Amino acid sequence: MTEWHHRLSDAHLHVDLYPAATRTAMLEQAWADGVEAIVAVSMDLASSKINRELSLRYPGRILPVYGYHPEQVIPDRKAHAALLSWIRQRAADGERFAIGEVGLPYYKRTSAAAAGETLSLKPYIELLESFIGLAGELKRPIALHAVYEDAETVCDLLEKHQVEKAHFHWFKGPPQTINRMMASGYYLSVTPDVAYEPEIQSLVTRYPLELMMTETDGPWPFEGPYTGQATCPGMTADVVRHIARLKGIGETEAATRTRDNLRSFYGI
Ligand SMILES: [Zn+2]
Repeated sequence: MTEWHHRLSDAHLHVDLYPAATRTAMLEQAWADGVEAIVAVSMDLASSKINRELSLRYPGRILPVYGYHPEQVIPDRKAHAALLSWIRQRAADGERFAIGEVGLPYYKRTSAAAAGETLSLKPYIELLESFIGLAGELKRPIALHAVYEDAETVCDLLEKHQVEKAHFHWFKGPPQTINRMMASGYYLSVTPDVAYEPEIQSLVTRYPLELMMTETDGPWPFEGPYTGQATCPGMTADVVRHIARLKGIGETEAATRTRDNLRSFYGI
């Protein structure tokens, strides 16, 4: 193991989506693989509670992120209110956390369209706006799921609510959106698909290193060289190697800079 392998970081992991029986082993393996910091994003309130417990068990190593994942059915009014008030209580108690995973349902919408149906974005935009407003109110960073044209809508909402600390995880989009995000100083994170996706490789070449982090979005499975392999945070070592190659810098620098970016953005 080289020196930089102790500086890995995963800026977007769904710890609670790993089976409960394997979660501890997965995290212990991550620490053994040299992962220093993990940002644990949530799907809903139940998921947020699990991630909070994990962050208490691994202080300084796991930062919990609370929200409602957009690629789901909209929560009812009561569940939505319960989540917002639970998050406000965490802030009132002086706890460390960020807001997310929130955003817009790109994949749900495109698969509905492929089936000849229309998914109305309006309730999703209202839901997202409540979380962006909360991030502004509580002065917390926000972890976003917004790709292609959805990212433009999200940029509009961030500007409207004057939220500047925004992280677009696994971002994909056209040059004009990339330029807008760069100009706003928004962060993005790169997954292991940088090994085989030309679109992501060109994004890495183009985007500033000072706004870049590494992630796995685990347990989401990857293709190419990772087909059939269980996703784990240690796979960020490969992401570091690809960033180093594409940026023409050393691997130690790529690992250190992306880790430092995560630490300063999320405050962990
Ligand atoms: Zn995710």
